[in-house]
Amino acid sequence: MKAHDGMYIDGAWRPADGRDTIDVVNPADEQVIGRVPAGNALDVDTAVRAARAALPGWAATPPAERAARLAALRDVLVERKDEIAETVTAELGSPPKLSQAVHAAVPIAVAGSYAELAATYAFEEKLGTSVVHHEPVGVVGAITPWNYPLHQIVAKVAPALAAGCTIVLKPAEDTPLVAQLFAEAVHEAGVPAGVFNLVTGLGPVAGQALAEHPGVDLVSFTGSTAVGRRIGATAGAAVKRVALELGGKSANVILPSADLARAVNVGVANVMSNSGQTCSAWTRMLVHRDQYDEAVSLAAEAAAKYGDRIGPVVNAKQRDRVRGYIDKGVAEGARLVAGGPEAPREQGYFVSPTVFADVTDEMTIAQEEIFGPVLSILRYEDEDDALRIANGTVYGLAGAVWAGDEAEAVAFARRMDTGQVDINGGRFNPLAPFGGYKQSGVGRELGAHGLAEYLQTKSLQF
Ligand code: NAD
Repeated sequence: MKAHDGMYIDGAWRPADGRDTIDVVNPADEQVIGRVPAGNALDVDTAVRAARAALPGWAATPPAERAARLAALRDVLVERKDEIAETVTAELGSPPKLSQAVHAAVPIAVAGSYAELAATYAFEEKLGTSVVHHEPVGVVGAITPWNYPLHQIVAKVAPALAAGCTIVLKPAEDTPLVAQLFAEAVHEAGVPAGVFNLVTGLGPVAGQALAEHPGVDLVSFTGSTAVGRRIGATAGAAVKRVALELGGKSANVILPSADLARAVNVGVANVMSNSGQTCSAWTRMLVHRDQYDEAVSLAAEAAAKYGDRIGPVVNAKQRDRVRGYIDKGVAEGARLVAGGPEAPREQGYFVSPTVFADVTDEMTIAQEEIFGPVLSILRYEDEDDALRIANGTVYGLAGAVWAGDEAEAVAFARRMDTGQVDINGGRFNPLAPFGGYKQSGVGRELGAHGLAEYLQTKSLQF
């Protein structure tokens, strides 16, 4: 795979300060497919200085011109769609169909939505006798994970560009190649030098240097709750803006009036897709006790059909972590109905689609984020019991409700402590805000709400 041996800073690929490199590994066959530089604090500093120098010019660029650059970026991503999909398949291991339909298509939709929003957003509004200006926050430090590698990047960079901010991106170390491809696309789209900068590197080195840099005005982080908590504390101490998109343990609530087979099948597909490496995955299926046995056999059957077609998980550490949770589920008394403990394969970081029945609320697999293809099915007595279980974790990122009648599902969804709920299946909408209640995060991504994260308001009083 094509890999740059430098950092994209101030409009050009420049040699990194340090000599260290990161091997990029294909999780399906464990082969090294590329090597990128591991940036250090000096690389981060060079990038932040470039972003700061470019800020006044980009902030003063009319929104219509920023919109035109975003539309050009969307067009380059469309032209290079196949290359994006192939790159994500190679470094994340996702099946080619998923790479096309989600890993490439979703960021294109999001870039397109911000091209439109940049052109139409009310950056200036009149409120009584005052005029309120929505101005860019400044230099953004964006730190992203590997699970939807290009989507996570575009969900931060596109609104930041629309707002008039400049950016330094530190992508996940497992998936830096699609980040390099994205930097090429930004360049081809004619975004001025210094507005977008890329530093590849390790989290505790380059990521931490970026999060702590005094020249960064807003840190936008997506990743684990453990790292997010530290980044939030650092930003709090420096009194700087922070946006955190963290983990989840979302509930899929199947009410008795729902189409059970459809709800179970879509629910299993939701968890197994991307090998379970989706922060918003509906990892807890909640079923009424009268329908429980039927739901469990439907789910076991659905999961068994997937096999290795779901693809591997991203690396050996993640595979071992997921397998550790499967062992814990067995040890705590949950009943395996699909998948389960297995020895490491000769090649590839695969974990079989796994379904646990008889999971109770207090079990580790019902409370902690596993980030692998593991579904827990829990039994509820009545609606209040379902709500208690659904809201009974520290997380609140997403969820789903199924009912025969949409109004019944909506009424239940309104009582859930979570940032997004899919009603009878739902569908992706790039304009709808995405983000967490409780420990799932701070702030929102996508749409106008996502754009607002990158703006600060100034009132002019008359
Ligand atoms: P992670 O927190 O280890 O890494 C995320 C990013 O942070 C990477 O770029 C990493 O290099 C960087 N990082 C690591 N340590 C750092 C430090 N000390 N300082 C600064 N940056 C640091 O998470 P991960 O393993 O890459 O991703 C999996 C986790 O991300 C899961 O828990 C998942 O739920 C969460 N996630 C959340 C969302 C969301 O939108 N809420 C989306 C995707 C993933």
